[in-house]
Amino acid sequence: MVAVCLVGATGSIGRSTLDVVRTLAPDVRLQSAFCGRRGADLAAIAREFRVERAGVAGDDALRELRAQDPGCATGAGEEFLEEAIAAADIVVSAATGAAGLPASLLAVRHGKRLALANKESLVLAGSLLLREAERTGAEIVPVDSEHSAIFQAMRAGQPREVARIVLTASGGPFRTADAAALSRVTPEQALAHPTWTMGPRISIDSATLMNKSLEFIEAHWLFGLPPDRIEIAVHPQSIVHGMVEFVDGSIVAQLGPPDMRVPIQVALTWPERRGPAFTGFSLADFAQLTFEAPDADRFPAVRFGDRAVRLGGTAGAVLNAANEVAVDRFLRGDLPFPAIAEVAGTVLDSASLVAEPNLEDIQAADAAAREEASLCCT
Ligand code: MG
Repeated sequence: MVAVCLVGATGSIGRSTLDVVRTLAPDVRLQSAFCGRRGADLAAIAREFRVERAGVAGDDALRELRAQDPGCATGAGEEFLEEAIAAADIVVSAATGAAGLPASLLAVRHGKRLALANKESLVLAGSLLLREAERTGAEIVPVDSEHSAIFQAMRAGQPREVARIVLTASGGPFRTADAAALSRVTPEQALAHPTWTMGPRISIDSATLMNKSLEFIEAHWLFGLPPDRIEIAVHPQSIVHGMVEFVDGSIVAQLGPPDMRVPIQVALTWPERRGPAFTGFSLADFAQLTFEAPDADRFPAVRFGDRAVRLGGTAGAVLNAANEVAVDRFLRGDLPFPAIAEVAGTVLDSASLVAEPNLEDIQAADAAAREEASLCCT
């Protein structure tokens, strides 16, 4: 039996993970569950799955969690999280944003399999995370659908035989919108993604294509490839999730209906595969698969990942922090849609970077970029 610690249990990936655990039971068991603020929702999860530990980020959420009688040990803070991670076999790191980094880092430090849905962990601290994983023998299995696809396709050859990888992007809800229309986009419009159902932050990032830039940085670390061997292709149907081109010109792709439960299940059962499939599949879904180059004039954020990888060091942390601030302002109605990328690009270009950052350097870069982005937003 495999014991899972799920961090980010009440979010979109968290709920999909619970679905997967329900179907894999009793071979896979939810041993502990964590979330940020939704204490009452977490209590319901704790009762259903009879977890041993349930934890939240702060005191208010902890009161809420305890008031709902979760029937297990409860706590808040990193020490409580570390105890749960140490006891688990697999840690699913699925919190949103920079807040997801501590769980990922603890998982690799304890030598666990890290099922990584929190892309910021690699965007902020890729070198640190990989160094630690090498030291402890921890395995990082991506849950991000594009990276899971590439991870699966990599099995068709040796790492030295890889010529390049292709990350596909849906293009978001404004793929065909012109610049004038983009300047009038409202948060409600940006939150309605055409093919994937996701949390608010990643929905906005998909609309600006910033998500693909964060995924570019993530792929650079996961697969150890330089920026000129990572490509982004807009593929509106979201059926082909990623491709690997080998040196002989063969291209191996992973395809399937857009359903996050598939990459989550792959990460929990890898290197085995388990059935039944969640989503039925029909060849009609494959009837029209199209690919086009992303338009960096209308969506400048799509280039920032490449730029951040070339800048190196704390550039990923700076880009992510500036973007988080700008997205937050946009969602509150304080910033027009095109300004999200402007703010993120300006802060990235003006930041002073640290080349081989430790955790404190990363946190300092994150804080400084947030401050800089707030200034840009006013
Ligand atoms: Mg993705």
